[in-house]
Amino acid sequence: MAQVTDHGGGVHSIKVPIPDNPLGHTLVHLVDTDRGPVLIDTGWDDPESWDTLVTGLASLKTGVADIHGMVITHHHPDHHGLSGQVREVSGAWIAMHAADTEVVRRTRESEPATWLTYLTEKLAAAGAPEEHLAPLRAARASGRTRTLPGLRAAIPDREIVPGELLDLAGRRLRAIWTPGHTPGHVCLHLEEDHPARLPGRGRLFSGDHLLPGISPHIGLYEDPDDTTVTDPLGDYLDSLERIGRLGAAEVLPAHQHAFTDASGRVRELLDHHEERLTGLLALLAAPLTPWQLAERMVWNRPWERIPHGSRSIAVSEAEAHLRRLVKLGRAEAAGTGPVTYVAV
Ligand SMILES: [Zn+2]
Ligand SMILES: [Zn+2]
Repeated sequence: MAQVTDHGGGVHSIKVPIPDNPLGHTLVHLVDTDRGPVLIDTGWDDPESWDTLVTGLASLKTGVADIHGMVITHHHPDHHGLSGQVREVSGAWIAMHAADTEVVRRTRESEPATWLTYLTEKLAAAGAPEEHLAPLRAARASGRTRTLPGLRAAIPDREIVPGELLDLAGRRLRAIWTPGHTPGHVCLHLEEDHPARLPGRGRLFSGDHLLPGISPHIGLYEDPDDTTVTDPLGDYLDSLERIGRLGAAEVLPAHQHAFTDASGRVRELLDHHEERLTGLLALLAAPLTPWQLAERMVWNRPWERIPHGSRSIAVSEAEAHLRRLVKLGRAEAAGTGPVTYVAV
């Protein structure tokens, strides 16, 4: 049974499961327009997720073939996974911000071996021990890497332009660029009166940018071909402030549940990151590699119980925090191979 919620004013959400993932599900939103329903995100590319989406649409007297378009908040597989399959059945367009479309294109074209080489070298430079690097080298040598998610993700055919209204007949949906979680993440502001007259300005589809009980992962914008020193955490914090100023009456996120008081939640997340950066500065009283910093940071479980793949992601998050501290002039890098950081 698909769980479908009527949010009023021609907006519904369908809970589409994510297999083997603690997040549980993606909330796929359906927005009625004068030319047919438009999906905001589509869910994970998996038979059970597809069946749930189809069943959910059927309960709203809609078939996949009726879908007019898809607006994708960001390229991650729990948001963009089923877009290609929906397009095959319906001929609907897929819209995404150019920076994330670039990631989709790059992921499809890149050889898994290239990616593994990049990851191994990057982790070695960050101070990862040999026991962490060995499985990556083994995977590269075996060639068993065709199952990386995103290798067959659909290339979008429309660009989401920041600040502009999307071309949705009879609706006012404006794209707000919110880089940080990914370089091309967007939130979508439905600039219409709230159907239950909640105070505030319209409703916000927030993707992974603003969630009621989770602080989204902010790592590096891993691009093997681009050596630009980006600051994803700085981007994220700026994007949070931008979203807080919208004054949306209600937030419809892509995970968990709808909520009000967007600016309160923004403040909580800004405070959380400020506290975390201050805590990291205390750890950096003595020089640490990004790996050593990740080992000492607080995660949702002890470091010893964090599996291999999640440790790589944790190091990326530690690096994003170090970039921010360096940019703020509160830490500096010393040495190479592996690099260490220390508070200043
Ligand atoms: Zn995501
Ligand atoms: Zn997500």
